[in-house]
Amino acid sequence: MEEQSRKQIKIIISAAVAVLILVITLFCTEKIQDEMQMQLSQNLKDVANQNAKAFHNQINTNEQLLKGLLSEVQQNRGNIADSVHKYSNFVEAYGLKRMGYCMADGMTVSTDGVMANLSFREFFQRGMNGQCTITGVLSDALSMDYDRIVVMSMPVRNASGDVEGVVFLTYDADALDDSLQMRSFDGQGYSFAINENGDIMAAMGNDNLQLSQNLFSDVMGKEPENEEIVNLIQENLAKGENTQGTMLLEEEDYFFATPVTFMDGEITWYMFTVIPADFLDHRFTAIQKNLLIMDFFVILSIMSGILLFVYTSKAQQRELIRLAYMDPVTGGANFARFCQVVDNMHDKQGYLVSTDIQNFNSINIAAGREAGDRMLKDVWEILEASLHEYEMAGRMREDHFALFLAEDSREALVGRMEEISGKVHDLAVKMQVPGVYLCYGVCILEENEAVEDGYSRARSARNCVNEDHARHYMFYSEIDQDEIRENQMMEEKFDQALEERQFEVWYQPKYSVDGSQIVGSEALVRWRIPDGSMVSPGRFIPLFEKNGMIARLDEYMFRTVCRQQAEWLKAGYNVLPVSVNLSRASLYYSDIVERYERIIKECDLDTSYIQLEVTESALEGKADILGVLGRFRDMGVQILMDDFGTGYSSLATLNMRCFDTLKLDKSLIDHIGDESGETLLYHVVSMGQQLGLHITAEGVETMVQLKYLQKLNCDDIQGFLFARPMPAAEFESRMGSRDGDQEA
Ligand code: C2E
Ligand code: MG
Ligand code: MG
Repeated sequence: MEEQSRKQIKIIISAAVAVLILVITLFCTEKIQDEMQMQLSQNLKDVANQNAKAFHNQINTNEQLLKGLLSEVQQNRGNIADSVHKYSNFVEAYGLKRMGYCMADGMTVSTDGVMANLSFREFFQRGMNGQCTITGVLSDALSMDYDRIVVMSMPVRNASGDVEGVVFLTYDADALDDSLQMRSFDGQGYSFAINENGDIMAAMGNDNLQLSQNLFSDVMGKEPENEEIVNLIQENLAKGENTQGTMLLEEEDYFFATPVTFMDGEITWYMFTVIPADFLDHRFTAIQKNLLIMDFFVILSIMSGILLFVYTSKAQQRELIRLAYMDPVTGGANFARFCQVVDNMHDKQGYLVSTDIQNFNSINIAAGREAGDRMLKDVWEILEASLHEYEMAGRMREDHFALFLAEDSREALVGRMEEISGKVHDLAVKMQVPGVYLCYGVCILEENEAVEDGYSRARSARNCVNEDHARHYMFYSEIDQDEIRENQMMEEKFDQALEERQFEVWYQPKYSVDGSQIVGSEALVRWRIPDGSMVSPGRFIPLFEKNGMIARLDEYMFRTVCRQQAEWLKAGYNVLPVSVNLSRASLYYSDIVERYERIIKECDLDTSYIQLEVTESALEGKADILGVLGRFRDMGVQILMDDFGTGYSSLATLNMRCFDTLKLDKSLIDHIGDESGETLLYHVVSMGQQLGLHITAEGVETMVQLKYLQKLNCDDIQGFLFARPMPAAEFESRMGSRDGDQEA
């Protein structure tokens, strides 16, 4: 839950950061664009001012020239033609058409010698009225070509201030236009000048602007959108202020207009510098494109970051789920997954089964861990393949599996389990590991019962499967509940009991057949629990054999006995061989011989003082047990065949020659008194004797039994008749010293 909300906070923070970065990027882009726009306005203004200055200089030069002629004429009234003539050189040098003087009647004296009457010209009339003029474009009345000209004129006053004529300067209209040549914006801009009425006085670079046109009515007036800007231009023009904005001619243009004054402020023109919006946009687009690319990459990186984050957290989640729910050995569901699925099944009516592989340890030990893992995987596949709809399987641990089988009858369930067992049996045969089969514990999963609880009931039932029986399953309902609880308790307490040495070695003496002397003893485990009571091995040995704990107990017993023997020897007792029980599970450890040998050596004990008891059933299944026993015997440790006569004792066992002593089981002894039992006993004993085996009779309780066994020439007697198992201290008192004071 906490993990979930932490993840949500992380996502919210990353999203907020992403949005923030995006907003900042867009804001910066906007800012950069504004900045560029401002920069552009500034550039336009600078260029426009430079243009206006250049244009003003151009006209001013002419104005100064005209003023020069004016003062020349005023000073040399007597010979005006001379004065005018003096200026011919300037006309040529400045690329003018002509300069001249109009007398009060309109007749001209000009540098090019053309004489005409210009009294009809407006500039003449204005001049005579005392006004300076720069005309619009006129056609030249003094030339046959009617060239387009512009005339600049000034009145000539006499000493009393009356106007007596007009000086004028004529130049090619196109030459004036040339002075507007743009030197910036890659030659893409253009300039023009208008007078106070809006008449275009000079224009360069735009074919739509003709000198004969009026800017307001002929050019801008064509587009209704220009109305507002036209008004603004007119207003500013009247005030002599700059105007900046956009206007629509053929297309949109940016312009900057600034007033330019001539003739000592008498004439004001408005000078426009214009750049097509296209040109700027083109310039802009490159930068904008870069900005867009930058935005795109920023957004892309944010998106990829978010995607990566989502993907990795998803992958992490998947990995976590995998780690949490996948079994590393089988690759299938683990127990947590099993519980989760079964818990979520809406209608979880069915049987919970706990199953494990009997003698699985022997595979691990005999064929190695890898083969063991392979076996687990194969068994898992068999289990998984056997599942129907709404069923589930999972591996609990080691060779323990959990199954949920949705059968509704016990018979059907047993059929299913037997089918699975058959397949596992075939697998074991294929792997050449006999004695491997599945054991099952079963319970019905109750409504509202946690799967874990159900499983532990099934597990308890599994622990009650008697391995010696043909039936390898047990239903929970069939078992003794107290026993289950007790088993669980014993399993839980085992480690602590070993540590605290709660397991005691008791000794049951073995007597010579005439009962005259002790010839040895058997070490038998007793569990003294902390409350002082004693638990008999019959209660816990089978349980520990099932769960594999027995091997540790056997080793503990063996070590304790060896140490005790060494101590007794040291103390000078008449020490006799003690046989220690070795369960089948212990024999599966391939290093058992080395481990036990090490213990014997640690105690510095002669191997004749220690013997091992194994049961006939231990020989089943794994051929190498004989090898293990052989190695013990090579060390000098005698092997006793325990419980001979129980179950399906085989005469062939007698001939295996892997043991030294035959221990006749109590069940054989109990038959003494009935004829067929005695016959059987007689044949077993004599066969054993013929094979050179030492014969010990176990569970001898009566004199009748003793007598018969004496008759059969048995070697030793172990039974309540002579002695029960007893604590070490008591046995010690019976042992006597090496000098021979043994109690009979
Ligand atoms: P076992 O190895 O056959 O030991 C002989 C059992 O017979 C002992 O039972 C002993 O007390 C009992 N017994 C001996 N004489 C008589 C008699 O005259 N009458 C009757 N009724 N019983 C007699 P115990 O000590 O209860 O042990 C039971 C079994 O537990 C042993 O059978 C052995 O299989 C197992 N066990 C005992 N200690 C160990 C051990 O340290 N390791 C292993 N693996 N198994 C052990
Ligand atoms: Mg025994
Ligand atoms: Mg026995």
